[in-house]
Amino acid sequence: MTNEKPNVQTREGQEQMKALGIKPLPDPDATTQPYWDAAMNEELKIQFCSACNQYQHPPMPTCERCEASKIEWRSISGKGIIYSFIIDRRLMTTGFDEPYVVAQINPIEAEHDDVRITTNIKGCELTDVYMDMPVEVFFEEVNGVKLPQFKPAPDAIIKSQQ
Ligand SMILES: [Zn+2]
Repeated sequence: MTNEKPNVQTREGQEQMKALGIKPLPDPDATTQPYWDAAMNEELKIQFCSACNQYQHPPMPTCERCEASKIEWRSISGKGIIYSFIIDRRLMTTGFDEPYVVAQINPIEAEHDDVRITTNIKGCELTDVYMDMPVEVFFEEVNGVKLPQFKPAPDAIIKSQQ
């Protein structure tokens, strides 16, 4: 069975995908589709509840705070700070080249810190990444799909460049 796809559940399958240059891409559903559609236009949009006037992310069918269904999609600046991050050195996500940073970003527009965009941090050394680091969005094209990614903002402190 030569056409069998690598098994992503195994280390061997992950190594095969990596060797083949296969990277995982978003698999949108009705709730998350607008996020990816906006990204294709190099816009960062997240959900906003017009009942309680709060942003929310990740996308949900209704507002997690007030349960209203008055959800709209709003463009945001793409500026934020790092709420939390890890450095993955063990290929925990298939198809990525480890080590890499997985971070959660609080957009500056969001009043609450439970509004978090999960992303990679690029454009600096792994060891430059720190909690509360100011970052900004950019769009990386992978196999015809544009992914929102984040990089240090101009006012971030980059230790490796000092
Ligand atoms: Zn609400």
